[in-house]
Amino acid sequence: MSNERREQASREELLQEIARLEQMVKAYEKVNSYSERELVKANRMLAAYEEAQDLTPAEIHQLQQQMQQGLRRPVPPETAVDSLQNQIRAAITAGLSGDGEASADSRVLERLEDLRSSAGPEFYVEFFRLMVHLDFSEREARVYWDDIVDHTHFLSRAFGRAIPFRVAMLDYFLQRSPMLRNPRLIEMHTFDDVVRTSLQDQLTGLYNRRYLDRCLLQEFRRAERHGHPVTIVIFDIDDFKTYNDSFGHPAGDEAMRTIGGLMAASFREEDQACRYGGEEFVVVLPETDAAAAGRVAERFVQAVRDTGFSHRPITMSGGLADYPRLGLDPGRVFLAADQALYRAKAEGKNRLVTARETEAAGSRSGS
Ligand code: GH3
Ligand code: MG
Ligand code: MG
Repeated sequence: MSNERREQASREELLQEIARLEQMVKAYEKVNSYSERELVKANRMLAAYEEAQDLTPAEIHQLQQQMQQGLRRPVPPETAVDSLQNQIRAAITAGLSGDGEASADSRVLERLEDLRSSAGPEFYVEFFRLMVHLDFSEREARVYWDDIVDHTHFLSRAFGRAIPFRVAMLDYFLQRSPMLRNPRLIEMHTFDDVVRTSLQDQLTGLYNRRYLDRCLLQEFRRAERHGHPVTIVIFDIDDFKTYNDSFGHPAGDEAMRTIGGLMAASFREEDQACRYGGEEFVVVLPETDAAAAGRVAERFVQAVRDTGFSHRPITMSGGLADYPRLGLDPGRVFLAADQALYRAKAEGKNRLVTARETEAAGSRSGS
């Protein structure tokens, strides 16, 4: 290769590298995860790259590595921190080896949640340090945790099957956050199932209440940021006790599985459909007001009406409430939806009722 061609090639490589780095800095700013001081440092490195026109690819590679190192925080030589990591490890191990009614998976998550609430945001930092050997600030770790949970669901929906948390975590760090290359995952294959089953209802395959609580907060935060509405719909099977009493619990379970399937099929991919508990179901519809949500919800309850269940037809009632009309926090909007559901039952069941503004403040009487 002539000198000129070689120069040309390395210049192109350099330009590519700069483009990549610019992207990296953009991602970096986007997650808003580093301090301004570090951002300045990164920009300075970028400038240094541009100046260093005559570097060899090997030197560029070396610099690149240094930069990535620089972007990560040094691990503090802290014994207290180490002990939190040990606690996380112990929580996982103990959860997996313990016994009792609950599944090993839900036990692990239970223990992790305990640890999370007692340790505070530091938990997230230590979790990533342990699982992927990456060091983040508390704020970053928290953002990543939430994003990876979202990403897990996004991937699961995209692939039409449950994608393990660990896979989503790897994919997230490699694809969505190009500044982080080659995170090393530790071998903890059971952890995937732990996360999945702890967020999924075993009977219907829908998400469970634990997931709902988490997703409600996220959706409300997102709605507030973007100025979008969100609607919560609570559904309850009508007279389900008599269905069970007359045809047996297994028949009731079968009906509930069918309803879960209809629910998953009736709503959009971004709507979060959950079994809230017993014969109650909840769906959260982002970027949707109560009027639009009502049309989709009606389609779902109509599908239930039209289904030939083995013993007798089944109907459902539902209550709808939307943010920000009915309230600014998920708890309030949820309560309004619950009150609307109560009204749907009182008005004769087999119908959907949208919450009135007055329903946001009061509390429901009765069951
Ligand atoms: P309403 O129209 O007022 O909602 O009446 P209902 O009979 O549906 O309501 P109630 O709260 O009295 O009873 C709910 C019933 O749902 C009780 C229980 O038999 C049934 N149920 C709850 N969870 C399950 C479950 O996991 N499997 C089955 N088969 N039945 C369940
Ligand atoms: Mg009920
Ligand atoms: Mg019921």
